[in-house]
Amino acid sequence: VQIKHLISSLFDDNKVASAELNTQTFDYEDVAQAVNNKQMCLYLQPKLSLPEENIVGAEFLVRWNHPEFGVLTPYYFIDIIEDSDLVHDFSILVVDEAFAFIEKHYEKLKELTFNINLSVKNLEDIHLPERLAELASSYSVPPQMITLEVTESLLIENLAESLDVLLRLRLKGFSLSIDDFGTGYSSIKQLSQIPFCELKLDRCFIHGCALDKDKQAIIEATVALAHKLHLKIVAEGIENPNDLSFLNHYKIDYGQGYLFALPLKKVSFLKALEQQKHYSVRENYN
Ligand code: C2E
Ligand code: MG
Ligand code: MG
Ligand code: MG
Repeated sequence: VQIKHLISSLFDDNKVASAELNTQTFDYEDVAQAVNNKQMCLYLQPKLSLPEENIVGAEFLVRWNHPEFGVLTPYYFIDIIEDSDLVHDFSILVVDEAFAFIEKHYEKLKELTFNINLSVKNLEDIHLPERLAELASSYSVPPQMITLEVTESLLIENLAESLDVLLRLRLKGFSLSIDDFGTGYSSIKQLSQIPFCELKLDRCFIHGCALDKDKQAIIEATVALAHKLHLKIVAEGIENPNDLSFLNHYKIDYGQGYLFALPLKKVSFLKALEQQKHYSVRENYN
């Protein structure tokens, strides 16, 4: 039995919130209060090496623990945060929670790497590299364990201003990842200007790739480009085994997706790591 089939069935962390939610919208005041009242918390989606399917790390994904509606995904609130000044305090809280988790379970996590999403607007804060480096040091988290993700489409619009902050984050030892690649308009020149370490191919190219020649061509070309630029490539949103077996024909480095694991609560993520250990031990005996 492979780990990938187990993780998703073991945990029930993604119960759908109440049906009323369909018509529910939130405003700035609601979201600002939730941030201040610490109602936001982080889940982790495992990241696996391909084709081996070992958990090599995870991406932190924010959730709103809403007192009335249950656990809400960023769909309901992230735009309000990213379009306002809330984004600065918010991202510091996210990084703080992520580092605190890593410090607390350091012995179990020290071989892994962790991705944290930043907003492009965070890159306007010229003090960001120092602030994140100080936080990492106060939690004794080596910046080499951390990859910071920024979304391609938004990044390119603000590249000139962001470049200096990105370079200094890299100098502090953080890795950088370009998220949702293929949804923006970055040129090869721009890609090579930024010291990225990783490229995450957007899930719209992954879903159904086993049956779609155009998607296959895009995947093949992107893998070649990424590797020429010495970037690792992550396939986002792998949902079905057919797509996965297609992807395994190419030299994709890592995969994430519901096929392997949904975003998990911290305690479930730790259990998934334990399970992986047991299974690899058992495989050695078989
Ligand atoms: P993202 O960074 O591209 O994260 C991946 C999203 O795809 C997550 O949605 C994840 O749950 C979802 N996903 C993973 N595997 C699959 C799959 O197999 N199929 C499908 N259909 N979806 C999959 P989520 O958690 O709802 O987050 C949405 C977006 O919100 C993220 O997209 C990211 O841009 C933003 N976000 C999440 N957490 C944070 C955060 O802490 N800070 C900031 N600034 N943005 C965040
Ligand atoms: Mg991301
Ligand atoms: Mg993102
Ligand atoms: Mg993405």
